[in-house]
Amino acid sequence: MKLKDFPEHIQKHLIPEVTGQVVYRCLDCGTEYDIDRLLYTCPACHSVLLLADLAFDRVKKIDSKTWHQIFDYRKMLNIAALKGIYRYHEFIGPMMPLDAVICLGEGHTPMVEANAYLQDLVGARFYFKNEGQNPSASFKDRGMAAALSYLNFIIRTQQLDGVLAICASTGDTSAAAALYAAYLGQKVASAVLLPHGKVTPQQLSQPLGAGARVLEIPGVFDDCMRVVEALSEHYHVALLNSKNSWRIRGQESYAYEVAQWFDYDLSGKVIVVPIGNAGNITAVLEGLLRFHDLGIIEALPKVIGVQSRHANPVFRYYQEKNPQRRLFVPVTVQPSVAQAAMIGRPVSMPRVIRLVEEYSRRAGDDSFAVVEVTEQEIMDNMLLANRNGHIACTQGGESLAGLRAALRAGIVNKDEVAVVDATAHHLKFIGFQQMYFDNSFPPEFEVTPKPEYQNRPQLLAPEKMPVHSPWTPAEMQEFTQDMVQQVAAALGLKTKG
Ligand SMILES: *Cc1c(COP(=O)(O)O)cnc(C)c1O
Ligand SMILES: [Zn+2]
Repeated sequence: MKLKDFPEHIQKHLIPEVTGQVVYRCLDCGTEYDIDRLLYTCPACHSVLLLADLAFDRVKKIDSKTWHQIFDYRKMLNIAALKGIYRYHEFIGPMMPLDAVICLGEGHTPMVEANAYLQDLVGARFYFKNEGQNPSASFKDRGMAAALSYLNFIIRTQQLDGVLAICASTGDTSAAAALYAAYLGQKVASAVLLPHGKVTPQQLSQPLGAGARVLEIPGVFDDCMRVVEALSEHYHVALLNSKNSWRIRGQESYAYEVAQWFDYDLSGKVIVVPIGNAGNITAVLEGLLRFHDLGIIEALPKVIGVQSRHANPVFRYYQEKNPQRRLFVPVTVQPSVAQAAMIGRPVSMPRVIRLVEEYSRRAGDDSFAVVEVTEQEIMDNMLLANRNGHIACTQGGESLAGLRAALRAGIVNKDEVAVVDATAHHLKFIGFQQMYFDNSFPPEFEVTPKPEYQNRPQLLAPEKMPVHSPWTPAEMQEFTQDMVQQVAAALGLKTKG
């Protein structure tokens, strides 16, 4: 729809103003730094940085009802830069000129309500939000759209060249980073550090296809992360891990979309998110709090984090109910099918702790919880979901298993409506499905396939298959008839009439 055709009172808000005074603010010492340079940790105290808009009052002047209309009407605008996460421009990067925004079609992923059978089985109404339908097939695209738009912006304003963007990854971060960097062409080269043998072939193919330098390190993600952190301190590189606060900003769009889907009424809602490096849960909590600050949402939903028993440092931390006595202890991870979340030392943990304090203050102690699930539950629930029309990956299976664990534990009750995060596309983790079908999991995964979920192709053998070609019409007919009979027998088909 053309701008002039929208209601008059909303027209002036539809195209976001390029304004705002965005700064980095240290989570610990509060020092503020200009965003005209790439910064990830506080130069003074080495703590993590958040982004703050010093001119946020300008945004607060617009009432919540008008915000609802702005976001809802923006859906109808045909302006490419506002089609992705930048629908929420004022909340993501208010200083971002629209022509610096990179949108590859991320965000606004489908909310697919589970069918009656599945809701009945699980015992609550729920939706999967299909993050696998993002351009590189995971939610990481949201954060990369923000981080690479920002990079594009400062490359332009600071006239930088030869920028090298780098990240450590369990697979999906590198896929997204490489894709968005590739879109910027000559302006940005990208390099990714992966734990050797710990990303799936599909995930590995993505940065390779997008032309990134792919370097593999023996060990697990946490080892790659330490290398990248040290690199970003001593060398000129743009760090694209979720320590980069722009990534968090972009991923906040997930929370905004959930709010918008429910017409900004999040009372009685539950958001279920798997936790790895804890960037996503940080973004969800922060996004919800910021919408709540402005009254764009009045009620805060419950937020449930999910971890595998094989990589559960955040779960362990919140097992201690007395906040004063909580102590964060990194864990050594065990092999997990939720490989994208197989992280023992989540970089965003300090942010999570701070945000959960605030969240609990506003919404009560019951508003946040972390549950733990087994590898077996993750696989079974992934397959259960897919057998009911979803495209959940192993982490999506983990989310569903988490919702069920939370229902069993009484953390979530059956009258609440849940949004379960299917963080990546099923196809990225297809190797684990194959291991389940073949019953070939190494023992340390502790997964025993349930026969009812196993599936495999059945090869039919023709009685006669001439080796010469082309076949005569008679041979072709004979082959077809033979196959028809075999297919009909295999499927137990009944003849007509
Ligand atoms: C990165 C990732 C996660 C974990 O998200 P964090 O922000 O690291 O906690 C979960 N699922 C998938 C598919 C991922 O790519
Ligand atoms: Zn500091």
